Amino acid sequence: MRIIVHKNKCQGHARCWAQAPGIFNLDDEGYILPGDIEVAERDELLASRGARSCPERALEIDATADALLTRLLFNQARGGVK
Ligand code: SF4
Repeated sequence: MRIIVHKNKCQGHARCWAQAPGIFNLDDEGYILPGDIEVAERDELLASRGARSCPERALEIDATADALLTRLLFNQARGGVK
């Protein structure tokens, strides 16, 4: 999963960091650092919570068709469909 960071929208609330300090890195003034964030599968739930907690919608969860297809194939290989 990837989180697209819209740095220009960030207002420094630090809610993302409060949810997931290991995923969202802030500068000394509490603003998100620039650059998209690649999230390991084990951290997706936490990262998703952090992204959704942003009141400025500065953190966009990339849910492209490729990502969804990859998830579907992975879940099928594990014997379940989600
Ligand atoms: S919650 Fe949103 S506005 Fe606040 S620091 Fe994180 S990205 Fe910026």
